[in-house]
Amino acid sequence: MSDAETLFERIIAGEIPADVVYEDDKTFAFRDINPQAKVHVLVVPKKRFRNVGELAASDPELLSAVVLSARKVAELEGIAESGYRVVFNTDGDAGQTVFHVHAHVLGGEQLGLFGR
Ligand code: 5GP
Repeated sequence: MSDAETLFERIIAGEIPADVVYEDDKTFAFRDINPQAKVHVLVVPKKRFRNVGELAASDPELLSAVVLSARKVAELEGIAESGYRVVFNTDGDAGQTVFHVHAHVLGGEQLGLFGR
């Protein structure tokens, strides 16, 4: 993996403004700039891994922290009861564009089925 900073390191560092929803010592959550649902928040570990598979293999506790932060975001956004989706896009065909693993937390309305 290249050492070049990704967009998300710059957001975590406060160099690029973002609408921050939640932060703790290990994770950072902010609204997606191009929301695909009424609620669309990205949860990232502060430590960078390329994708969810690498995160799971290298630091399963940190993956757990990301998923728990997604649940915390759902609670803060008032969608924990109605239901929400957590998505990790991984590489090309999934459309991953930022190679710092992030969970998309989507909800606030009835979501469509997966597909093309
Ligand atoms: P991916 O396609 O890698 O799974 O998701 C990257 C996400 O980052 C996209 O949903 C995109 O809208 C979001 N994004 C890209 N640039 C920015 C930005 O500058 N600020 C915020 N808040 N989100 C961004």
